[in-house]
Amino acid sequence: MCEAWERLEQIVGFDTGSRRVATTLNAVEQITKGLSFHRMRLANVTRQQEWPGYDQTDTTFKALEVCGEAGELAEAVKKMVRAERGIAGSTAKLEAVADELGDVIISADLLAAHLGIDLASAVAKKFDKTSVKYGLETRLGAAEEEPEA
Ligand SMILES: [Mg+2]
Repeated sequence: MCEAWERLEQIVGFDTGSRRVATTLNAVEQITKGLSFHRMRLANVTRQQEWPGYDQTDTTFKALEVCGEAGELAEAVKKMVRAERGIAGSTAKLEAVADELGDVIISADLLAAHLGIDLASAVAKKFDKTSVKYGLETRLGAAEEEPEA
């Protein structure tokens, strides 16, 4: 087994023989019928094996990718606002904004996977941390932080 597949197994937490991943992805899709962080992670790291190859990018590249996609999102929003205000220049529709939001999430998950971060857990913890900070009742139910010793 190549090093990349071993790394993939560490990330997704089970045997990642390519057929097994495909079978698992199909099974998860049938069960959930919706996108979850886990399903996105499986698809993301599997596709990264196809392109550009799991070991072809490093932390810096992946972080720059997130920033690049955030820039593309900002550009799409700017062009959409330009269209709404009737300002001359190239324009974009909400669909373009949605596409770039997707790219931001996908690239953020790739960075998280590379760093061994469980994105669902990170989002839940940060959401709840912000709720606590501002005294808001809405929580995602993330596990409480371990008290510092
Ligand atoms: Mg993009």
